Amino acid sequence: MVSRATARKRRRRGAGDGGDRVQGRQSGGLEVLAQAAAAAEAYRREVMAEARTHTASYADMLAAFAGPTPETGGSGGDIIAELVRKATPGIRASTGPRFFGWVIGGSHPTGVAADWLTAAWGQNAGNLIAAPASSAVEAVACGWLLDLLGLPSTASVGLVTGATVANFVCLAAARGEVLRRAGWDVEADGLFGAPPVTVLIGADAHATVYSALKYLGLGARRVRTVATDALGRMRPDDFDRALAQVEGPAIAIAQAGQINTGASDPFEAIAPSARDKGVWLHVDGAFGLWAQACPTRAHLTRGVALADSWATDGHKWLQTPYDCGYAIVRDAEAHRRAMAISASYLPPPEGSERDPSAYVPELSRRARGFATWAMIRQLGRSGVADMVERCCALAAEMAGRIAAEPGARLVCPVELNQFMIRFRGEAGAGAGDDLTLETVRRVQQDGVAFMGPAQWRGEWVMRVSVTSAATTATDARLSAEAVVDAWRAVRASPGEATEPAA
Ligand SMILES: *Cc1c(COP(=O)(O)O)cnc(C)c1O
Repeated sequence: MVSRATARKRRRRGAGDGGDRVQGRQSGGLEVLAQAAAAAEAYRREVMAEARTHTASYADMLAAFAGPTPETGGSGGDIIAELVRKATPGIRASTGPRFFGWVIGGSHPTGVAADWLTAAWGQNAGNLIAAPASSAVEAVACGWLLDLLGLPSTASVGLVTGATVANFVCLAAARGEVLRRAGWDVEADGLFGAPPVTVLIGADAHATVYSALKYLGLGARRVRTVATDALGRMRPDDFDRALAQVEGPAIAIAQAGQINTGASDPFEAIAPSARDKGVWLHVDGAFGLWAQACPTRAHLTRGVALADSWATDGHKWLQTPYDCGYAIVRDAEAHRRAMAISASYLPPPEGSERDPSAYVPELSRRARGFATWAMIRQLGRSGVADMVERCCALAAEMAGRIAAEPGARLVCPVELNQFMIRFRGEAGAGAGDDLTLETVRRVQQDGVAFMGPAQWRGEWVMRVSVTSAATTATDARLSAEAVVDAWRAVRASPGEATEPAA
């Protein structure tokens, strides 16, 4: 911090001696930071009070931003003012208390503030010397994370962009280790000529796990699919059948928190048999792994700590701003073999110090540890547990309220924080897809709350995700009523179903 008196003195010194330039360098256009903070605070106040989403479309936004490539520069203040003016109508209220689309956390103000400082400090989080504070905060926050999630304290953690990349990092470690045990060094020699790796995966796995398989040369299609039950959980009998056929290196991919049902795989049943067979068990727990941090819900993920690796997100249930996921690996050596980068100009980690770039694909990257540290400090163990419990309880309440309306059916029991509703007219099931999509469209248009559509077992449903710390019991009630009102309007006069924002 530069005191005002010092700043005044410096300005006087600079005057008359290229003073404008020096002064320009000292203030550096810094007024824009306060300007952005004011605009951000105004927006947050509005979205918390109103909770309605802005409704401008992508096409509206393209029209607002379109223009020729700027030939000359501009003033920071004007640029930020223009950005706020143009973008605001197209900002979805995903930080507001009545947003239930996809699985999106609320970007808690404390996490956002830490993230602003992260950007302002501009640290390159790639090594200990370039970023001592960031590296230390990461090391500490990773320990807290393992503690909250009930995972082995000796596991390694990489701070990545989200669960997609976390799945990729964990499966890279898995691929390397199962091949190493078969006498093959995939990090050095690649996959050509390597023993084939069998991949077992639940039939209701998340799309991003297949992306990871694609990036890793394991092939999205080259998998043995394990049958699932009505909630999308792997059936242990089919898992055992698949396991019995495994010969050589193999990876099994399970999940905590199915995207539509919120249900978790039966880890207690599958993890011991995977281990007996030497099969690496990975868990995609983008949001569902957080049940572990909540004593009243932890039974849903019982046995998950027996796995070999776990992917989860900060930007979903921990409420950090976006660009925050965690790749967690039991065997830290396998994690490092898959990811570590070495070069003469990069400092070798001193002794046993944690090298922040050894667990992620990138070298230069955002110092993601600050927001994680700040959010865990903000909530504490009890706050995380309360938030997870509250989201789950509100999901059950909303589901009950909506499903009490004739023609609205809760598709699966509410396991966690996700649920699905299907709408059906008296005429029968035939028009269910159209009626459901039309109801979703009406809810989005009415703007009281935001829900999205999804497909489950070949049918369209309205999917609701309660993942924000900002949602209160009143918000949940108003949102359920908004859905009921929309459905009543659709039932009274079903219109042309147009595509809702998916
Ligand atoms: C959201 C999600 C992902 C992908 O996570 P990103 O943070 O969007 O990269 C993967 N798996 C599950 C189960 C998810 O819910």
